[in-house]
Amino acid sequence: MFTKEILCKQYEIKPEILTYVSDIEDNLKKNHFNKIDKVRQYNQFKVIKAMQDAKLNYTNFYWNTGYGYNDPGREKVEEIYSNIFNTEDALVRPIIASGTHALYLTLSALLKPGDEVMSITGRPYDTLLTVLGLENNEPSNLKEYGVSYKEIDLDSNGNINVDKINNEIGNNTKLLMIQRSTGYSFRPAITIEKIESAIKLIKSKYPNIIIMVDNCYGEFIEELEPTDVGADVCVGSLIKNPGGGIALTGGYIVGRSKYIKSISNRLTAPGIGKEVGLTFDSVRSTLQGLFFAPHVVSEALKGALLFGAVYKSLGFEITPDIKDKRSDIIQSIKFENKEYLIKFCEAIQSASPVDYYMKPEPWDMPGYTNEVIMAAGAFIQGSSIELSADAPIREPYIGYVQGGLFYDHAKLGLLISLENLTQFSQLGALLK
Ligand SMILES: *Cc1c(COP(=O)(O)O)cnc(C)c1O
Repeated sequence: MFTKEILCKQYEIKPEILTYVSDIEDNLKKNHFNKIDKVRQYNQFKVIKAMQDAKLNYTNFYWNTGYGYNDPGREKVEEIYSNIFNTEDALVRPIIASGTHALYLTLSALLKPGDEVMSITGRPYDTLLTVLGLENNEPSNLKEYGVSYKEIDLDSNGNINVDKINNEIGNNTKLLMIQRSTGYSFRPAITIEKIESAIKLIKSKYPNIIIMVDNCYGEFIEELEPTDVGADVCVGSLIKNPGGGIALTGGYIVGRSKYIKSISNRLTAPGIGKEVGLTFDSVRSTLQGLFFAPHVVSEALKGALLFGAVYKSLGFEITPDIKDKRSDIIQSIKFENKEYLIKFCEAIQSASPVDYYMKPEPWDMPGYTNEVIMAAGAFIQGSSIELSADAPIREPYIGYVQGGLFYDHAKLGLLISLENLTQFSQLGALLK
């Protein structure tokens, strides 16, 4: 009763919207949420074990000065990440400013002039197009360093097209890039099972090729991570899933030690590598966030399902579908209408605990080609594990919604979005 009152009176949501959503929610609770809870629990235990195996202790939260030699907290963070991802080594640093930075760092360390990088999951995430030198011609892009690029689309079933890849790999092809998450495309994420089978088939023919996975938004969605199934390096951002909404900043790279060594030398200098670098008091928040992450990811996934199920029932095309196996936290909704998309993003913003009264507007974000609208009232700037919606402003006006440290927050965003959108008479009629 109290809930209904606050939603209807204080948020001014129509009672029929609540009823409409409740019916769909009941069905999700019965048929879908229990699977999410199982994965959550497994990953929670995995994270705790990783911290215990590293003998994490309270003095690891102090930090160092100057070069930062022998910083125990920094070393623990990296040990814990490599325990979780089942890898020989890890590089996890607050000075890695974003996911794009972590990916660029990795690519620029592992690729030399004359090498070819091949994206085997189609067009990569927008900012990587600039990094690769395919768009915007920014200085220091990989093309400028003599790295060439090839791209193989997914096949018509959304699978990695292994036959085509094996045919296209040439003498100079050094590294294959898999983007696990949707990014700004309209396809489901690539599941771990699909990643595993592609890696097996490719490695049986080309054992020395490096397979790098852009794991952004994928962490803790399934029991296994790409590095459990043969990926050589795996890269992500700490203001997405593994930061649990608590990490202030940072990126991670996990994988085989020879590659992490090379990437570390690129981060600092050859011969210095991982041995230096301050943590700026980030160790506790990085690890506490990691500790929260499996739970937070499960909340975000439940929220994504609710958004998907409700918008699907209103007749919008969604990806992934409710019955699809998920491998990232993103729910995309095809609005096919610029006004709907913008209203939707405004709703997500106005459900926020921070900056709720601001209106998001499309703008030319650095690194992106189209204008992008980003709605988030986050405690951590740009943190998309917190409830957020974003979209490049281009046809067919797909909105990407993700995050929600708590399911209740995602639900509130959804309710406000319906209230906003049903002001359009075509949509209002659908709820009756
Ligand atoms: C978020 C994301 C990135 C990197 O983005 P940053 O905003 O630079 O952290 C790269 N790839 C994918 C698939 C992403 O979702």
